[in-house]
Amino acid sequence: MEKRVYNFSPGPAVLPLPALEQAQRDLTALPGVGISILEISHRSKTFTEIIEQAEANLRKLLEIPDGYRVLFLQGGAQMQFAMVPMNFLAGAGKSADYILTGSWGKKAIAAANTQGDVRVAWDGGETNYDHVPEQANLNLDPNSAYVHITSNETIQGVQFPTEPDTGNVPLVCDASSDILSRPVPIKKYGILYACAQKNAGPAGVTIVVIRDDLVKQSPDNLPPMLSYKAMAKGKSLLNTPPVFGVYMIKLVTDWLLDKIGGLEQMAEINRKKADMLCEVIDGSAGFYSVHAAPGSRSMMNVAFRLADPALDGPFLEQAAARGLASLKGHRSVGGCRASIYNAMPVEGVQLLCEFMLEFCKKNR
Ligand SMILES: *Cc1c(COP(=O)(O)O)cnc(C)c1O
Repeated sequence: MEKRVYNFSPGPAVLPLPALEQAQRDLTALPGVGISILEISHRSKTFTEIIEQAEANLRKLLEIPDGYRVLFLQGGAQMQFAMVPMNFLAGAGKSADYILTGSWGKKAIAAANTQGDVRVAWDGGETNYDHVPEQANLNLDPNSAYVHITSNETIQGVQFPTEPDTGNVPLVCDASSDILSRPVPIKKYGILYACAQKNAGPAGVTIVVIRDDLVKQSPDNLPPMLSYKAMAKGKSLLNTPPVFGVYMIKLVTDWLLDKIGGLEQMAEINRKKADMLCEVIDGSAGFYSVHAAPGSRSMMNVAFRLADPALDGPFLEQAAARGLASLKGHRSVGGCRASIYNAMPVEGVQLLCEFMLEFCKKNR
């Protein structure tokens, strides 16, 4: 088999090896079934069990209480950028508040603007999106339809340590790049959604956790594929669902439950990885620097810069030569970014730290 490198890609991103290996083993025929997951009917008993198990695993890991639905939708996180305002802003006679902490929030706002009035309740643009707001600085409208946040801004590497308080207004969260990385108090959320390809599975499936009262509130005049109510009623099976994606979410969440032990344990490992990396950066006397301010730093995406941008090229090249891949930062922030999602082993971060220390010593 081809040797795997340490893949620091922001997404699609590294998946747990045991999940990939099981998918590989069972790809041509599911055990006891004799048919591939890629060939089986989404109405079969086998797939029904797979989607039910994926949901049960998510409920267990995220401690999702009764009164919430779990949906598996398509169209990625950006489809949710549209579906949320189509269901809850258009025709609501209210505006919606968006807390803007980076590039993905900006795209969510652009999509919502096509459906109704958007208020930006806070905008981190002045400091190039390097921190999340203090509660006191939020300009929230108590009558808004919902408040939207991006729990982890994948490009800037800025993460909310805890949820903002939105009172009685439903909190809607794009958790695409930190879902399943730590425990979250689901009760604080009206909707939590995440595309799978950062931390939960392959591209093509989107996890949506939505409170029952919001499902009920979803209007009847939407095309069924864009309606939370219709999708919930059809148990995510209105049309052919992303069968393979749901299957992979089941395998990834099996790994989280059986091998890792749950989200407390996962968060501890993620904290350790992020701390290791930030220690090297903070200890480099300015050779490297983290984009995000302390207190807002992401455990999933460490966006960092080299003081001399002319060294970016050699840094990335030499890293790649050691099997440390996909460390280039997003063009809007520049520099480098190490995405260290759940499935990135501690050893991968260890190797990256060693390389960074050496590179700094040689080039400072
Ligand atoms: C990757 C990402 C998206 C975009 O997801 P798609 O599935 O490509 O639409 C949106 N939000 C965040 C926070 C992301 O990390």
